[in-house]
Amino acid sequence: MSSALPPSRPDIAANLAFVKAKLVKAAADPAHPPRLIAVSKTMPPEAVREALAAGHRLFGENRVQEAMAKFPPLRAEFPDLELHLIGPLQTNKVREAVATFDAIQTVDREKLARALAAEMQKQGRRPDCYVQVNTGEEPQKAGALPLEADALVRLARDELGLPVIGLMCIPPAEEEPAPHFALLAKIAARNGLNRLSMGMSSDFEVAAQLGATEVRVGSAIFGARPSA
Ligand SMILES: *Cc1c(COP(=O)(O)O)cnc(C)c1O
Repeated sequence: MSSALPPSRPDIAANLAFVKAKLVKAAADPAHPPRLIAVSKTMPPEAVREALAAGHRLFGENRVQEAMAKFPPLRAEFPDLELHLIGPLQTNKVREAVATFDAIQTVDREKLARALAAEMQKQGRRPDCYVQVNTGEEPQKAGALPLEADALVRLARDELGLPVIGLMCIPPAEEEPAPHFALLAKIAARNGLNRLSMGMSSDFEVAAQLGATEVRVGSAIFGARPSA
């Protein structure tokens, strides 16, 4: 038989410490670095457990179904765990999403905002909301267009009463992220919002410099995901 090495396992605790140190260094205000959302999509519960054992409590998932399968037992054990939805939300999953997540970062259209408002009313649970902005105006990407973002914030927060606390963006993969982060910060400022979810494994330091309050980092913590 071959003597292949075992597949290399990322050192999750070390990676968390490394990313957190970099965030402190890059942060506009080192006393208030962005919060690190460990993006655990496609990763098994054991990987999340390793992060929990290292003291980490804030996680992001991009699918409602996957989060519902993975997190309830972990939450039972770690009541201070916090889980954010960072992937697209269909209106037929709104009930599960409101029940499962502490924040929904992907409010991107009126229909979804209305469904969330109705469901929060029903459940008496109010996860924080972020409006997702398609800063690159990419046709295939979710998010309100920059020119529509103000109207969506106004509707969601002021008319429907959703707890909208910030904005989120995913810049185009092939572009410099900085102008997109700066645009998101500008839209947030003119709407009186102070949370900015921006920056991933490849650009979280740039995001931290430009005022991110949450960065969403997956592969730099958990290792490469199996390609879909
Ligand atoms: C997967 C994902 C991330 C994390 O991506 P990495 O490059 O692995 O850090 C961040 N944000 C969103 C919306 C994602 O879907």
